[in-house]
Amino acid sequence: MKINILNAGYCTAPEHIAIHGGRWKKIHFPAMFALLQHPKFGAMLFDTGYSYRFFDETKKFPKRFYRWMTPVTLHEEDLVVNQLTTFNLKPADISHVFISHFHADHIAALPDLAWSRFIYMPHAFSHLRNLKPAEDMKHAYLRGLIPTDFDTRSHPVDMAKPKLLSAEYAPFKTGYDLLGDESVIGVELPGHALGQMGIFARNEHGKLFFFVADAAWLKQSIVENRPPHKIANMIFADPEEYRETLSALHTYHLTHPETIVVPSHCAQTIQTLKASNE
Ligand SMILES: [Zn+2]
Repeated sequence: MKINILNAGYCTAPEHIAIHGGRWKKIHFPAMFALLQHPKFGAMLFDTGYSYRFFDETKKFPKRFYRWMTPVTLHEEDLVVNQLTTFNLKPADISHVFISHFHADHIAALPDLAWSRFIYMPHAFSHLRNLKPAEDMKHAYLRGLIPTDFDTRSHPVDMAKPKLLSAEYAPFKTGYDLLGDESVIGVELPGHALGQMGIFARNEHGKLFFFVADAAWLKQSIVENRPPHKIANMIFADPEEYRETLSALHTYHLTHPETIVVPSHCAQTIQTLKASNE
């Protein structure tokens, strides 16, 4: 399938938060999404990046803190719906959205995709469903970003049907065949958020992509097995699991240098891949 790496806006934060020993300098963290054009299922997205709804949803306190912590820049032309036109696509053409996790910078354009099926790991959303509004902040969750008919269009991953992965994916042993044709394999990348899902997908030239969402914020973290600043543990679902997932990604990177590993917010990675988009 054809794979294009794009981003809808970016936020800024100090580099040393994202990676232990990083610079104090503020750097850009693009909100990546990927357009996957499958020969049978048509156009699909992995995450969505920001949308203007992020600003609507963070107008009032305490959610306004969300904006303060990670100031967001988003231009009209960066919106998913506007970028789709570049590919002669409309929001209605997006058949599936694979949701890595439910942090606002990954799902902000879901309400614009009124015809898509949503695929995600069930436990990534089930704990958010019953939160009291006062608890949203703790989970970086903006409930207003969830479409009103979300449940009817949801196809959560059937965790009872794991697939044993071949050595090609080691050290990841278990995955989920998300479309039933082995073209998109979901793997759990726990630690950053409950039920975070990464996906493997191969482009039309046979190149394998591994979208790892926020399992690492920078590619350098994976290459050097270097975690973020300890302060980031405060926002992680499980810091210990985060560390284990990062080590697994490090091992994967060393043993599969030909795979394009894509952390969702690594500016260097995203820019390089955007430049190679045809
Ligand atoms: Zn996140």
